[in-house]
Formats: sequence, structure tokens, C-alpha cells
Amino acid sequence: MNGPPPQSGAKAAHPPGRELDLQDNRGFARHIIAWHKHAGRHDLPWQGRREAYRIWLSEIMLQQTQVAAVKGYYARFLAAYPTVEALAAAPEERVLELWSGLGYYSRARNLHACARQIVQQYQGVFPTDPKRLAELPGVGRSTAAAVAVFSAGVRAAILDGNVKRVLCRVFGVEGYPGTRAVHDRLWSLAEELLPHNEIEAYTQGLMDFGATLCTPRKPRCADCFFKTRCVAWRDQRVAELPFKKPSRTYPERRVWMLVLHHAGEVLLLRRPARGIWGGLWSLPEWPEEATSAAAVSFAALRGQVATVARLAPFNHGFTHYRLAVEVVAIDLASRDGTAQPGELWLDLGDARGAALPAPIKRLLVALCSVSPLHGAGTAAPQGERF
Ligand code: SF4
Repeated sequence: MNGPPPQSGAKAAHPPGRELDLQDNRGFARHIIAWHKHAGRHDLPWQGRREAYRIWLSEIMLQQTQVAAVKGYYARFLAAYPTVEALAAAPEERVLELWSGLGYYSRARNLHACARQIVQQYQGVFPTDPKRLAELPGVGRSTAAAVAVFSAGVRAAILDGNVKRVLCRVFGVEGYPGTRAVHDRLWSLAEELLPHNEIEAYTQGLMDFGATLCTPRKPRCADCFFKTRCVAWRDQRVAELPFKKPSRTYPERRVWMLVLHHAGEVLLLRRPARGIWGGLWSLPEWPEEATSAAAVSFAALRGQVATVARLAPFNHGFTHYRLAVEVVAIDLASRDGTAQPGELWLDLGDARGAALPAPIKRLLVALCSVSPLHGAGTAAPQGERF
């Protein structure tokens, strides 16, 4: 495969006059470090100070999420919780609210649990040993290494998705990186490549190289200092490496969800701590076989049913299955009693900032813009009536 032409205005990928030498592995690190000094990222909000709390916070947020999306959340978290002690003392509900929209909510729960463990077990001081860091909730081996590198200059290897891609391409590592054998091979390689000096520049450079130059789609190969030795480039296999996950069909789980509405508010239930969307507020839900009659009976226990309508269904993909959701909207003419424990009547106008799963938030925010539903009390949203 031919690489794309150099992007206009992009920084040269490597200082001129240097020749790539991968005869020994030191050449790899040397070139990454040189490139980082010249073209890497140096002004990220969590850079410039060896403060483990800030670095750990950014690394957790950056798991499966790009820098541009993380910056705003990082600033809001630091403003709300400037220290690990402040985060540990925060109510989980507030932490989930601040996290809302970043996805992968188990990260937020682990973040909170980790902060508490740092305070209780380590008196608020993060360990610098990657092995001890990796024992903390939500801190895997690669994140532990990144925190140790950036907070204490420890010589440790990272292996996030970007690094896996770079190593698979440059060294022609075959096989899907999710398998044990390839995973182990990549970790060995990542450790063999570690330089003895400038570990922070190397680690940041490796991250930046994968994020900005050797990207998943349209890598800037023509502009890349590795291309004379990169196996993927040499063998025209850039699109093939790393190997994709073998395709499989995901099972589908079908459920009913209920938008129970009264006077501009909708009823939410707190989900169990374990399982999908654990601990978040969500809509009442039934398995497919329950039929929509279960939703109507449920609603009748909470007030006088005025209208019943069906909204457009939606799908949501999880790692191991696809959730197919049929949505029933019921309007109450009047409401009986107050919310039970584990229930919340949420003003639709507050949906955007609430700790809700992303597809539920999207649905409620969309409904909020349907003026008859928001605040009028009796009209049903658009959709097919039963
Ligand atoms: S490392 Fe290889 S695949 Fe990646 S940008 Fe450079 S030449 Fe292309």
C-alpha cells in the first residue's frame, strides 16, 4: 500500500539527516525520542508537572478516549476535586454525573474506588512501583506503567491500543493482538524496546506517534521516518496490520423501556451496582417477553394513566451483545405518592447533566425538545399509538 502524501502544514516527521537503524532495538527508542522532541505534544494540560494524581486522572480518562474529548472532563474534574482526598470524599453519584458522556462508566466507579484506596491504604500518596499501581481498581498494567513513568520517571513499558498498532506495523507482528500469544509477544517487545534514558520523552513520543502519525486509518507513511524499515510499509500491509478481531455475530437482547412522564418529569430507577450501566439512573425496563402491558400496569401503580404511545426503538452495542430497545411512553394525568427508594422523578430539563447511560440521555434530551412532553403534563411524544 502506498502511503498518503505528506500533509500540508504538518510538521516534518523527523529531524532531517538521521538514518533509521533498527538493527538493535535501541534505534527504535532513539528515533521516537528524537521525533517527540521535535514534533510531539508538549502542552497537554496534564503535562509539565510530576503530580501522580493529575497524571493518573488523565490516564484513566484517556483509556479508550481521545485527548480532545478528555480535556474538558479533565478540567472539570480537577476544578471539582483538586486532590485525591477530595475525590475520595465525593459522593459516587456526583462523580458519575461529572463523568457522564465520557462512556465506559465502570472507569468512573473504579476511579472513585481507586481514590479511596489511595487515601486509606497509601495515605493519599500514589505508589511509584508499577506492580503496586496495577493492583489498584481500574489501573491495568499499561496505565500503571504510564503513571509510574510520568510521575516518577520509572523505566516501565506501556502497551495501549496505539502502541500495539505501532509495534504490529513496524515489526510485522502477525495475529490478532487480543489473543494471549500475540499479547505476550507485544509485551515482550515493548519491554525490549525500552530506552535506558529519557523514558518520559520516549513514552509520550510513542503515544503521540500512534495518535498523530501511525494512526488507525490513513497513517502518514510517506512522512514517516520508520518507513524504510517498517514491515507493514515495506510489504504493503499497512491496512492489514494489526490483524482485526475475527468477526463474530453478537447475540441480541431485546427489552422494553418505559418513559413514564408527568408534568415535565420522567421516572428513573437506579440500576444495580453490578452489570451494565451499574449504579446509573435509567428507565424502568422489562425483558421482551413481558410485553408492554407490564409497563402499563407499572404506570397504573404510580398514577392515573392518560395516554400510552410507542416511540421509535433504538439499539445499543455492548462488548458482547447488542441491546434492542422498544420504548413505551406513558403520560400520567395525576401522580400518586412520592418516589420509592431507588426511584427518581427527573425534570427532563436536567437530563443533559444527569448520570445517565448515553443512549438514555440521548432519548430524554430529544424528548425534552418535544415541547408538549416537557412541562405540559398530558400530551404523548411523537410515535405510533397502540
Ligand atoms: S510506522 Fe509504518 S505504518 Fe506506521 S506510519 Fe510509519 S511507515 Fe506507516
